[in-house]
Amino acid sequence: MDDFVQKTLADFVPAQTEGEGPGFDWKWLAQGVLRLTPHSQVEQSLVLSAGIHGNETAPVEILSQVLDALWRGDMDLCWDVLVVLGNPKALQTGKRYQACDLNRLFGGRWKTIDQGIERERAAQLEQVVSDFFSGSPPTRWHLDMHTAIRGSLHSRFGVLPARNAAWPSAFLQWQEEAGLEALVFHQTPGGTFTHFTAQYFDALSCTMELGKAMPFGQNDLNAFSATRFALTQLLANGPVSVQDSGKSVLRCYKVCQQLTRTGDDFILHIPDDTLNFTPFRQGTLLAEDGNHKQVVQQDTEYVLFPNRLVAPGLRAGLMLAEIPHPYG
Ligand SMILES: [Zn+2]
Repeated sequence: MDDFVQKTLADFVPAQTEGEGPGFDWKWLAQGVLRLTPHSQVEQSLVLSAGIHGNETAPVEILSQVLDALWRGDMDLCWDVLVVLGNPKALQTGKRYQACDLNRLFGGRWKTIDQGIERERAAQLEQVVSDFFSGSPPTRWHLDMHTAIRGSLHSRFGVLPARNAAWPSAFLQWQEEAGLEALVFHQTPGGTFTHFTAQYFDALSCTMELGKAMPFGQNDLNAFSATRFALTQLLANGPVSVQDSGKSVLRCYKVCQQLTRTGDDFILHIPDDTLNFTPFRQGTLLAEDGNHKQVVQQDTEYVLFPNRLVAPGLRAGLMLAEIPHPYG
């Protein structure tokens, strides 16, 4: 199963669905889903996903390079790995999604829509991830790689799902090694792929936003070299927890309010070209719908993913408050 990414994009269905690579067994589980099991016993399992949004191609190219290195035998694999190309149909057409946003449908939310490729895909991915984690070692990570639609004051950042327990420092430190400049901590459950793996399998999960989305072949992959290097190191050596040197430059935020499109009269007072993490002062009017107004409540809040063109009931943006570093 070399050229897994190209074969997935070409809708190729292999005649042979399992075999051996250098130091690991592979099994093709579905279109865009490949399991790699090292021959040596390992204590950690990793879901490595990209292409949940079909127009976010750079992480798919990174994943392809990392898989090529594994197939060449450039490194040993010390994780049980489930590789997932989230939405192959959308990747083939270069669209974010076909019928609806796959990354809003996890945790069973796909049951609330009637039909479409994404409904079926969310159900399928929940099943394969469930099978994977149920038979896998106890240390569970999920790295879901994306690129952002808009520009951002932090060019690379991670969004972490709600979690009751503290986040282990090895996991957060790895995010910084992978080139992330900021982490955003969700406080409530959601329908993303990473929320699903965190909530149902207690995985340490992160949605990694790795820069601006471009079509296949037009990405400057040098901009992603830190991520690719950190990923290669992680697969070969596992998470390395280093003593905090006090040199961390990672900025941390928590979600403090959500802007939801309430109906047709909803007005979002944040311009379309606003960069992610743009600060707003206390009292600034952010959104309104008739008598209902949402303003900045803290001294300063930072906007993330503002989007007035969502359907009623869906998220039109998140507001963040900066928090102290959760480690060190
Ligand atoms: Zn995305």
